[in-house]
Amino acid sequence: MSSRLSFDIPPLAGVVPKIDPAASSKPALLLDRDGVLNLDTGYVRRYRDFRWMPGAIETLIAFSRANWHICVVTNQSGIARGKYTEEDVERLHADITYDVTTAGARIDAFYYCPYHAESSIDRYRFVDHPDRKPNPGMLIKALRDCGAYTARSVMVGDKVSDLEAGRRAGVMALHFRSQGRLDDFLAESLSKQGAFWNDALSDNARRNDNIMI
Ligand SMILES: [Mg+2]
Repeated sequence: MSSRLSFDIPPLAGVVPKIDPAASSKPALLLDRDGVLNLDTGYVRRYRDFRWMPGAIETLIAFSRANWHICVVTNQSGIARGKYTEEDVERLHADITYDVTTAGARIDAFYYCPYHAESSIDRYRFVDHPDRKPNPGMLIKALRDCGAYTARSVMVGDKVSDLEAGRRAGVMALHFRSQGRLDDFLAESLSKQGAFWNDALSDNARRNDNIMI
């Protein structure tokens, strides 16, 4: 486990919405990967090149405690471009999951899109694939797979294509510009979103402060 991470953090007080008891299902936090969870240094392929975004682990801890679904939705055209393979991506996601689990948080699922219109690899050449953001395919799949409450779910991305995908999937889309801390960004963004979003970490989340997820 990398020593660069500190997990001794306060909750995002006043920020993470609690689950609406009237809702039949929990909302989902849909996260772009490169530029949101980690610094986007270009075609990140291996864990040794993976650098957590400041506040990303803390965000995952807070939303895990608040009992949200948490999914990553990421375009990975590097596969179509022959820069790395699906196996590389899955290995990296396993390494990311190790960090997240060690921190007492979780990511429920990773969705990645390997397709690109100009791929030199036949099986990855696809014009305007429905899963490639700005198309909403991956987001819709994620929401459906976890049975999320779409209208209260959130997509966080660093590119306009992330925001468009979010809007087309019917969730709130937030533009994180890869500057500052992700948890601070979400704290500020969600606090502006009305009563539901203004709720503090739920009582339930506080009571379960010591649970291991
Ligand atoms: Mg990105």
